Amino acid sequence: MKAAVVSKDHSVEIIDKTVRPLEHGEALLSMECCGVCHTDLHVKNGDFGDVTGRTLGHEGIGIVKSVGPGVTSLKAGDRASVAWFFRGCGHCEYCNSGNETLCRSVTNAGYTADGGMAEECIVVADYAVKVPDGLDSAAASSITCAGVTTYKAVKVSNIKPGQWIVIYGLGGLGNLALQYAKNVFNAKVIAVDVNDLQLDFAKESGADLVINSRTDDAAKIIQEQTGGAHAAVVTAVAKAAFNSAVDAVRAGARIVAVGLPSESMSLNIPRLVLDGIEVVGSLVGTRQDLAEAFQFAAEGKVKPTVTLRPLEDINAIFHEMESGKIKGRMVIDFKHKSVR
Ligand SMILES: [Zn+2]
Ligand SMILES: [Zn+2]
Repeated sequence: MKAAVVSKDHSVEIIDKTVRPLEHGEALLSMECCGVCHTDLHVKNGDFGDVTGRTLGHEGIGIVKSVGPGVTSLKAGDRASVAWFFRGCGHCEYCNSGNETLCRSVTNAGYTADGGMAEECIVVADYAVKVPDGLDSAAASSITCAGVTTYKAVKVSNIKPGQWIVIYGLGGLGNLALQYAKNVFNAKVIAVDVNDLQLDFAKESGADLVINSRTDDAAKIIQEQTGGAHAAVVTAVAKAAFNSAVDAVRAGARIVAVGLPSESMSLNIPRLVLDGIEVVGSLVGTRQDLAEAFQFAAEGKVKPTVTLRPLEDINAIFHEMESGKIKGRMVIDFKHKSVR
């Protein structure tokens, strides 16, 4: 079967791989599609260490072809996911307290385990979340990473119906955060970005207030018009967005960090103490979070923007990603073979 594998020179090779026999608790997926993520770009470039020979992909959706001994959670014909949170140890304090994504011995698909950017993929059956009927596989692939990440971040923000939430950064992640905040949590949403195109899309997606922070002081406008947001989710990768979020919220608010800028944020400690502001980080989501994120998408509350591409395009997609040309999610299609 064909697989997109990291090569020595930090590009991706499409090679023929033989699938090993299934072990206890494993299932073999015949892949339908797999989204291409910025994280794949980092993995391929060796930013997290050398992983030459590893099959990429942590936004995979496939159909169960066969199951190994001891599998009860999946059966042939089920549709299931290959997510970044590929498996936890199952017995540490994090795995046993609803925080399995923090497991210190976690395995990540497309990084420390072979991922879903291949015609076939072996998963640990109990960790592969089933995709509900009515949710198309390409859309589901985006929910597997961007969707669950933003759903979890909005959940962690503790936002209540009718309250104001501000989202910084309205790219692929931010737009999904907006849709979850608006259509699932019934919040009023403020969208802040430096790009008018993303803000127009945010408005179409239901944002109640949009602010271009390149030309306007977002925090000032938010304080004037809403009395301060009740929560903030920052998907932007600029330190300025994190600092603005602290100024844009009201007392008792929670700021959820999702974006990963390389710098530190400035935190005014008296503001934190006197106004009871909380700043927390949020990383992907648990299997339960993913099941919920899938279900809301299946109900039509959240619609990712996806473009299907053939496997042969993988290096071209990474080039487009590096030059910032991608809108929405590029998804490798394994169902329809390329005719080139
Ligand atoms: Zn991803
Ligand atoms: Zn664990």
